[in-house]
Amino acid sequence: MLDKETIRVLLNLPDIAIDRIVVEGARTLKIFVHSILEGTHCHRCGKPIDHPYGLSQEITLRHVSLGEYTILIVLRPKRYQCDDCEGRPTTSQTLSWYTPRASVTKGFEDQMLLELINSTLEDVSRKQGIGVDALQGILDRRIDPEIDWSAIETLEVMGIDEISLKKGHRDFVAVISAYVNDQLRVIGLLAERTKAAVKGSPGSPGVVISYKTVA
Ligand SMILES: [Zn+2]
Repeated sequence: MLDKETIRVLLNLPDIAIDRIVVEGARTLKIFVHSILEGTHCHRCGKPIDHPYGLSQEITLRHVSLGEYTILIVLRPKRYQCDDCEGRPTTSQTLSWYTPRASVTKGFEDQMLLELINSTLEDVSRKQGIGVDALQGILDRRIDPEIDWSAIETLEVMGIDEISLKKGHRDFVAVISAYVNDQLRVIGLLAERTKAAVKGSPGSPGVVISYKTVA
């Protein structure tokens, strides 16, 4: 078994320390972590707050697999109290690598988006052991009407591929992907599947290198 520090590096999740690692069944690692980041913003007034108020309920998030192991990250988010707002409400800290109420990490979402290219929700669901509803939830969260082209320094290869939402239905979203620093990354999702939608997207370089259509 690898040591905690090596696993922390492999997980590639910022602002955490690993408390313990539990092997569950034959192919699952449950990794208990805690946040090393201090403070959050009050959900009511938006001000930075750092008055600790214990921990929130435990959340479990599926993360990118390590080798053959399914990875589950278990975290009790830190909670903080606002001393300015009436009733002194509390707010749970959310770390940058997950969305509140999501059951998977953003890294896992990226991986599923790549898996979904030229595939179907049903196929990826079966292969990855994740529910169709959870995959649909990932798509809903990540569909972005405006792709942030400025975030991409070099567009080495840009692919535009499609995800068919339902088998036999012509109901697609387009996945825009590119090699950023030698790594294939999903840049954005567009609900419209036409080249015009991409070319018309604000700041788009207007380059369409690959465009595959799912039969
Ligand atoms: Zn407040």
